[in-house]
Amino acid sequence: MPTTYCHCGNVQVKVDALPDTLTSCNCSICRRTAALWGYYPQAQVSVSVKTEPLQTYCWGDEYIDFHRCSQCGCTTHYTCRPKAEMDRVGVNFRLFDNEVVQRLAVKTVDGASF
Ligand SMILES: [Zn+2]
Repeated sequence: MPTTYCHCGNVQVKVDALPDTLTSCNCSICRRTAALWGYYPQAQVSVSVKTEPLQTYCWGDEYIDFHRCSQCGCTTHYTCRPKAEMDRVGVNFRLFDNEVVQRLAVKTVDGASF
């Protein structure tokens, strides 16, 4: 299973398989974190922490929780709150090796416009 870590190694993210595409979004948060998102149903992602807890950020309509390592600050993934009614986890593929990311097509989404 494709597995990666935040910079300090505290957070491990494991996915069932590599996604077909990654998403680059220009909305107010994605452009700041510069994440490249791979989308999965919740059952296909497993996240674990070694010692330090995750920190979570949520704003606006509060549909999505963005999670980051509290030690090194890397944005690792996002999860949808129940009211979003969407079974989706966004995994930040910037955490994976360059060789992995380079093989995947990147889809650009104009999230700033909606
Ligand atoms: Zn870390």
